[in-house]
Amino acid sequence: MALLTDLNSKSLTGTEGKKHMAIRVGVIGTGTIGSDHVRRLTNDVVGASVGGVFDIADDRASQLASSVGARVYARWQDLVASDDIDAVVVASPGERHPDQTIACIEAGKPVLCEKPIATAMSEAVRVVEAEVAAGRRLAQVGFMRRYDAGYRSVKAAMTDGTIGEPLLAHAVHRNPAVPDSFQGEMSLTDSVVHEFDVFRWLFDNEIVSVLVLPVKQSPVGAAHLRDPQIIVVQLAGGEVVTIESFVNCRYGYDVRCEIVGSLGTVSLDNPRTTVVVGENGRQEHIPGDWRERFGPAYVSELQA
Ligand code: NAP
Repeated sequence: MALLTDLNSKSLTGTEGKKHMAIRVGVIGTGTIGSDHVRRLTNDVVGASVGGVFDIADDRASQLASSVGARVYARWQDLVASDDIDAVVVASPGERHPDQTIACIEAGKPVLCEKPIATAMSEAVRVVEAEVAAGRRLAQVGFMRRYDAGYRSVKAAMTDGTIGEPLLAHAVHRNPAVPDSFQGEMSLTDSVVHEFDVFRWLFDNEIVSVLVLPVKQSPVGAAHLRDPQIIVVQLAGGEVVTIESFVNCRYGYDVRCEIVGSLGTVSLDNPRTTVVVGENGRQEHIPGDWRERFGPAYVSELQA
């Protein structure tokens, strides 16, 4: 709330006392999600505009910038330092996030850093320490599920007594496929990281242990990844979450969970759009990818 008030007052006066109506957001990284965020900030978010963009692929950045009337910066450091930029979205590859996010914090600018905050523990700690040194909350990680209507209903049922005392959860996180650039432990650090965040938030407790069990390898999955996997997460209150991660499930983007409480359960299903009944039986739509499934949540996240 303090952050919002800060930004609102800035949006009225501007950094040079100029009167302008929107918070001018700079976007670093204009690939898949960065360009989506630029379009959302331009078309869907109230009170914001895209002031500038940077990408090492400068032609990609230029094309996008011209489509929304934004400036292209030659270096991300110039974008962060610019008096024409009030807040920043970092949407570059994960290993770039710590330096870029820390630069925003040091410049006193609110920053929405796409997940993951970092790709190594020591780098994540560096970001947290920079924010502690700054003395106020300036950084938020792009965990958009907290803004998804379905997850918010689940959270409500967990906190209003509907299911009694929440005890455990089962989660499924399936992606149709991942690109070749998806390597090593990325199914944990880039995909399951959403589960790590959302169950901390849902149970309002920290994670105390994580166990990863490889499963029989899918014959049609990426051979270089251990896929699928089962992850068992234990939270500080003794709650346990079992997560199936399957990043090459082929058939669609399927994210669901069920929370088991002392008096009942609450389940998150795929949002139901249409159900077709015909000679092939009963068929319903499964989202094709994360952009479709969480589109509205990304808008709410940016708006907040
Ligand atoms: P992407 O399509 O590869 O886009 C990344 C962009 O950043 C590319 O244009 C890349 O250029 C550029 N880039 C590379 N180095 C850079 C640097 N030092 N500074 C600025 N830009 C640089 O990847 P993406 O799918 O958009 O993912 C970007 C980030 O968002 C990742 O951390 C990813 O985990 C996260 N993400 C989050 C969600 C979510 O649900 N919250 C969903 C998708 C992605 P080149 O192509 O020339 O390298």
